[in-house]
Amino acid sequence: MPRKQTKAVKIGNVTIGGGAPIVIQSMTNTDTRDIEATLRQIEALARAGCEVVRVAVLDQDAAYSIKEITAKSVLPVIADIHFDYRLALIAVEQGIHGLRLNPGNIGARWKVQEVVRAVKEREIPIRIGVNAGSLDKEIREKFQGITAEGMVESALNHIHVLEDEGYDKIKVSLKASDVPLMLKAYRLMSETVDYPLHVGVTEAGTVRSGLVKSAVGIGTLLAEGIGDTIRVSLTGDPVQEIPVALQILRVLGLRESGVDLISCPTCGRTQVNLAELADQVETKLSSLPPLDRPLKVAVMGCAVNGPGEAREADFGIAGGKGMGLLFRKGEIVAHLPENELLPALLKEIEDYVRDHGKDE
Ligand code: SF4
Repeated sequence: MPRKQTKAVKIGNVTIGGGAPIVIQSMTNTDTRDIEATLRQIEALARAGCEVVRVAVLDQDAAYSIKEITAKSVLPVIADIHFDYRLALIAVEQGIHGLRLNPGNIGARWKVQEVVRAVKEREIPIRIGVNAGSLDKEIREKFQGITAEGMVESALNHIHVLEDEGYDKIKVSLKASDVPLMLKAYRLMSETVDYPLHVGVTEAGTVRSGLVKSAVGIGTLLAEGIGDTIRVSLTGDPVQEIPVALQILRVLGLRESGVDLISCPTCGRTQVNLAELADQVETKLSSLPPLDRPLKVAVMGCAVNGPGEAREADFGIAGGKGMGLLFRKGEIVAHLPENELLPALLKEIEDYVRDHGKDE
């Protein structure tokens, strides 16, 4: 499906929407007032492939931490703020690149106007983030429960508050932990407005269950051309979200960079401990520095079908009885004793990294 055309907004030097590549976001789980810990986590997120980061701003101390965080952060930073317009004003003053804030919850109109005046001067986008779990009572009553239509109406109410002040640097998210609900809400929103959409499944769960929910929810929308930036939400260290996000983009052909490991499911022909081999290769691949081009590695169970099945891999190995094959682009380049297979493959990977590692 062609991607839905949306307006572009800029978070620091990163463009979201307007046909730009889909941006991977995450959120720190450090105390934002702990500047060093927050910066360390931002660096770890960036190393993993995150492109924009959000920090929670709970109080004035956190808002004042923004100055040093944005100055030293390797990624553009968004402040997540609820209700208190003064925190938004401080964050903007301290150099924040984006806000996540629901303007309808700020209260008096003059407060909204003050925030809009501040963001307008610096062209700072605001993400309106509606969560199914915190829909207004009036909306729940009007729509007789939590519905996609109610979520969209809630977002539109917030959007209109900003539009009434002449501001349109807006992004929108409509997250729910229920995948069919979020799918319906995003589809409806995408038909209604052309603001860029931040797509995610909220409270997705732990790595195992959350990964599947996120892949299905985010992946389905992206496959329909909906979504300009994504967040995979998993309980725990946010760094673990990034490989999942990258993989979702890769399998949909929306991102070519990065490392891809393919391995066969094993069958009656398999005569090597393939699971262990694949584990060891995966560990190696997860520690690689950024590359200037994609790398696909295959770990296959047999010499009969392995190289052919993994023809598009840059290189790989195929196990056999007491021996195995090393192959490049589906061509066999060496027959090796079983115990030399893994070292030979790892050497190929190291050589590739030396030739194609990005200068950092
Ligand atoms: Fe079976 Fe070989 Fe295919 Fe693996 S590559 S599933 S061992 S036929």
